Amino acid sequence: MSPRRIGRRLTTLLAGAATALGLGLLSQPAPAAADVTVAATVCYNTSQAGPYAGTADQAASIWTSYTRNVTMSKCGSNLMIYYTTGGGSYAVRRSLGNGYVVIDTVQASQYSPLRIMTHEIGHILGLPDNYNGQCYLLMSGGSAGTGCTNPYPYSTESAQVDRNFGGLATTGAQVFRNSWPTPATVG
Ligand SMILES: [Zn+2]
Repeated sequence: MSPRRIGRRLTTLLAGAATALGLGLLSQPAPAAADVTVAATVCYNTSQAGPYAGTADQAASIWTSYTRNVTMSKCGSNLMIYYTTGGGSYAVRRSLGNGYVVIDTVQASQYSPLRIMTHEIGHILGLPDNYNGQCYLLMSGGSAGTGCTNPYPYSTESAQVDRNFGGLATTGAQVFRNSWPTPATVG
């Protein structure tokens, strides 16, 4: 979507009641395919990802195939993948599609590394956490337990990413530490 179109849409919204503004933005239907003119390429770099380089490739393929507005490719360093031991996995988003992800080897030995990776990249693509324990959601993260290995975004999650990259949502810099909570039942 072009900036002109977005501007027109915002102008229309601003003309309405103030209370309708927030709801209006949230309830915007996903744009029709013909309406989408913004497609972004997020270049990721696995040179520092150690044993998780292949996992990052798999996660990038998932995000590319589950979204219309995002393609992930090894074309640069918008998104660096790192790993560490202890302290938890997390994501640092500098701006939409830019930042870095750190995978904790301890968590990756308890949970599905691919689910962790896809989840953390989800933050870079503008998604917040949603710790409701539901395995069908990617952004429920560790709250769904160690038995949950689902690495795929739910339709609402991939639609939100498409809206983010279509310019219909505000997703700025944010740090997601404690992004992968350990359930109380896991020591
Ligand atoms: Zn998270």
